Amino acid sequence: SEIRLIQSEKQASVGKLAAGVAHEINNPLTAVLTFTHMILRRTDLPGEVRSDLETVASQTERVRKIVKSLLDFSRQSALTPESLDVNGLIQESVKLLENQALIKGVSLSFRGDDNLPLFTLDHNQCQSVLINMIINALDATPSGGKISIQTKRASLENANGVEIKISDTGTGIASEHMDKLFDPFFTTKEVGKGTGLGLAVSAGIIQRHGGSISVNSTLGEGTAFTIWLPMADNPE
Ligand code: ADP
Repeated sequence: SEIRLIQSEKQASVGKLAAGVAHEINNPLTAVLTFTHMILRRTDLPGEVRSDLETVASQTERVRKIVKSLLDFSRQSALTPESLDVNGLIQESVKLLENQALIKGVSLSFRGDDNLPLFTLDHNQCQSVLINMIINALDATPSGGKISIQTKRASLENANGVEIKISDTGTGIASEHMDKLFDPFFTTKEVGKGTGLGLAVSAGIIQRHGGSISVNSTLGEGTAFTIWLPMADNPE
């Protein structure tokens, strides 16, 4: 099954709501943590109370991390575009994750179109999209599997651009999950592992570059995410 994400109003409104909620949660949360740590500094606590309070502290810390990534997500930071070699950018990201793939026993390969022009992109933001997608592919792909990344020139709705395809031979995505993938907080990963913000953040970044993301997946066979980025100067 396939899903294409071009412009999502739903996402924008969820983002705004999330930002508001995250902001409101942050202050009381800081108070909870401050008081918890204050009590933990007492020397007269019964062992059992201390251990329960340590759980309160670590779980609250977890909530704070989630709130922080939510704030990062909703901040929609402005782009700092520069002229970039897309293949070089992908090679950098692959380098960062090569070792992780090796340890997992998953092959990670990249084949770039040699005739790509330079693109005007935000280096850090695009790199975080690539890293996030490669990590997702690694998480989904068992030992012996493959992740292949490819670039090629491609036009979309008459605009010239580049297509970056990240395919894996992993678990695939259940069809009932396909239209939730880009929703903030949608995750199938175990508690503490995924926040479900990776694809939501990635979709925001690609949209701000004037591009789009599409997904093709077959359960039990694998998944391919395709990012398309326009060649023209990217207005915000
Ligand atoms: P997270 O990685 O924290 O779960 P993401 O937004 O990056 O958040 O991904 C959301 C969900 O999309 C994942 O939990 C997983 O179910 C699914 N997903 C993303 N990429 C893949 C992939 N390559 N193969 C299978 N499932 C994937």
